[in-house]
Amino acid sequence: MAVLSDIPGEAEQVSCAICGADSNRQLFMARDKVFYGDGREYPVVECRQCGLVYLNPRPGGRAKAAYYENEYPFCMSDGCSQPLAHYQPVIDRLMERDPGRVLDVGTGNSPFLPEMKQLGWEAAGTEVAEPLADHFREQHGITLHIGELEDIGFEDDSFDAVTVMGVLEHVPHPRRFLEEVRRILRDGGLMALWCFNRGLEARLLGRYWLGFDTPRHFYSFSYDTMLRLLAETGFELKGSLFRPISYASYSGVWAYQRARNRLRAQHERMPTYRLHLPAALELVSRPLGRALAARMESSNMFLFAEGLAGGGRQTTVKEMEARV
Ligand SMILES: [Zn+2]
Repeated sequence: MAVLSDIPGEAEQVSCAICGADSNRQLFMARDKVFYGDGREYPVVECRQCGLVYLNPRPGGRAKAAYYENEYPFCMSDGCSQPLAHYQPVIDRLMERDPGRVLDVGTGNSPFLPEMKQLGWEAAGTEVAEPLADHFREQHGITLHIGELEDIGFEDDSFDAVTVMGVLEHVPHPRRFLEEVRRILRDGGLMALWCFNRGLEARLLGRYWLGFDTPRHFYSFSYDTMLRLLAETGFELKGSLFRPISYASYSGVWAYQRARNRLRAQHERMPTYRLHLPAALELVSRPLGRALAARMESSNMFLFAEGLAGGGRQTTVKEMEARV
């Protein structure tokens, strides 16, 4: 069985992105659940100090880019995207404020910015794929700045709101990334973050949980690890929303389809975001999702945080928990 560390020059060993510790334990080996044809497995570890779950070693340099090959649909102008309804919690939060400047990091082909523009906001985005940015400008008249956020160099306090949706798991250095968001967000500005939540469901499903898209996801954050990271990068949590969706049925359907394909000796790609549940499973899934969300344990969360004034004093996690 090929593992990533067998391939010289591709693998990168990393310390914990939250506490810096090098002490971790391996949870399991995970496959690429979308492009799984090469049989390679990736070690998923948990930090013994702070509990952050991450890929280690992980693809570095050119190897990383290879995992976003042309068929990764969020990188294609005609690829799929989350429907507008997915962004509604963020749109609602922003609309509680006066319209201003909003930056969406890693826009892809999402319908979020065009909607914000319609609603009177001055909209801008960032994108690493240049053709996608050209397409987006032609379609919507909205500029997507090319490159990784940390390399673009926006002025201090440039935005009233920054949205980071489906991005943080992919970022090599999440602390540095959030510090950059804080720098370009005005004091009191809102950051809206959507990411997967390593809650009860994730822990039970282990390597089969679809919320950890190895090896494109480097990190699997929980509510607690996010709380700490936000507190330490100059943010104050103002609210959270757990989506009432269960991933258990999706993981089951995915595992079943994969087993069936293997029996037929087929190596079809099985994009997890295109999985459809049979109606019966959908019925079971809904109340389960609601029950998990009510306990802040569902697989998907939105976090809303304000930039602390002066970029200065950092809130402790205890203070933050006391306020939410
Ligand atoms: Zn740690």
